Amino acid sequence: MTHKADVLIIGGGAIGLSAAYYLQQSGRAVTVIDSREVAAGSSAGNAGHIVPSHIVPLAAPGIIGTALGWLLDTQNSPFGMRVSLDPAYLAWLMRFAAACNQANVDGAIPAFKALGLLSAANFARLIAAEGFDCAYSETGLLFLYKTQTAWGSGKHEAELLHQHGLPAEVLDSAAVHEREPAARPDVIGGVHFTGDASLDPGRFLRQLAERIQERGGVLHAHMPVTGFEVAGGRVMRVLTASGDFAPEQVVLAAGAWSPRVVRDLGLSLPVQPARGYSLTARAPRVMPRQALLLGERRVAVTPLGDRLRITGRLELSGLDTTPSARHLAGIERAVRAYIVLDEPLSVEATWAGLRPTTPDGVPLIGVSPRHANLIVATGHAMLGLSLGPGTGQVVAELANGRSPSIDLRRFSLDWSVR
Ligand SMILES: Cc1cc2nc3c(=O)[nH]c(=O)nc-3n(C[C@H](O)[C@H](O)[C@H](O)COP(=O)(O)OP(=O)(O)OC[C@H]3O[C@@H](n4cnc5c(N)ncnc54)[C@H](O)[C@@H]3O)c2cc1C
Repeated sequence: MTHKADVLIIGGGAIGLSAAYYLQQSGRAVTVIDSREVAAGSSAGNAGHIVPSHIVPLAAPGIIGTALGWLLDTQNSPFGMRVSLDPAYLAWLMRFAAACNQANVDGAIPAFKALGLLSAANFARLIAAEGFDCAYSETGLLFLYKTQTAWGSGKHEAELLHQHGLPAEVLDSAAVHEREPAARPDVIGGVHFTGDASLDPGRFLRQLAERIQERGGVLHAHMPVTGFEVAGGRVMRVLTASGDFAPEQVVLAAGAWSPRVVRDLGLSLPVQPARGYSLTARAPRVMPRQALLLGERRVAVTPLGDRLRITGRLELSGLDTTPSARHLAGIERAVRAYIVLDEPLSVEATWAGLRPTTPDGVPLIGVSPRHANLIVATGHAMLGLSLGPGTGQVVAELANGRSPSIDLRRFSLDWSVR
């Protein structure tokens, strides 16, 4: 059986659904297919931080030394990596190491800033226009610090943001406790990224999926793409076990699975999965007032209405998505060290997700160099929710042959122009 389709979107996570929404807004008919659930993937259980303040890529000077130091801490390390001779993994590690320099950071900052601001503005507009109920809050992201060294790095980051016209407030101990009464007394300072926001990503994405469907979009869960037919530099058919699609255009938004999905297309996508974990609990007695990031431990804390979510760890460890009880216990210990949380947590869900990570830390957004009707949108690493609505808008612009609202050169699939 062959299904007709205007735009076929592979992957129903934050990126795929955002693309579907903006394509639909532009008048296109959309079909989204996912190998598992739609509005889930690596997107539903994440921290829910919308962070236009996050302008520095993962591949930055000093990160390798920091990561090696973390590996020595077997109890509380925020980082882990597998030992493997997989050639794609080894090549990715080498490219990552080569990209950890100031030139990479300087080149990435304007790109992250443009996409981050577009996306944050789109979140505010979209949520207001659609009337979504998803614990959306514009109270910013507050970093908490317990050591002068880490607070010093935070202050440096605040200065960097000021240089780029983005808001960040440095708070001393008194100011940080006034702004966040849940902070423990030994938190010595903070930096408040006041332009940031947060929401419940699962609720946001489920409502987005419902709205797309109400407007005629077709969503297929449990329908993995198994292959493609290509002719004349175009994707003619997308193959699944439940029938084929003959779309006008295809959007690849399969997150960390993207390289696997396109392996027969001759398209090289250097994306590695970076796993992280979350747990979601009933609201504790003292609820934080805003989204938090625990500076030294890189653990995120997000109030989601009557729930609290905590997330952490970055592990270069393959495509497994089994939550680790050991690492979740470490993440919970970190939270108890920074905020007043004296009672046992009433945990409702544990989760693991995969950040699709490129070696230079910058997403891949653009038309395939080999297939005129295939748009790739992946590699958003730790920012796939945050950059979703901005990415969705530019994907729709590319699909409609319009010039994109932001300069996409730094996101190109052609590494020589990034
Ligand atoms: C612990 C943690 C915390 C995070 N916190 C934040 C945060 O606060 N803010 C933020 O912006 N980002 C955060 N992230 C990152 C964010 O979750 C990811 O960047 C984002 O989920 C990537 O979205 P995606 O749509 O590209 O991929 P996914 O959400 O993974 O979607 C890809 C989809 O493709 C589907 N798929 C795979 N193979 C196939 C196939 N063969 N056929 C069809 N479909 C297929 C998958 O089932 C999946 O649903 C966090 C990540 C983790 C792990």
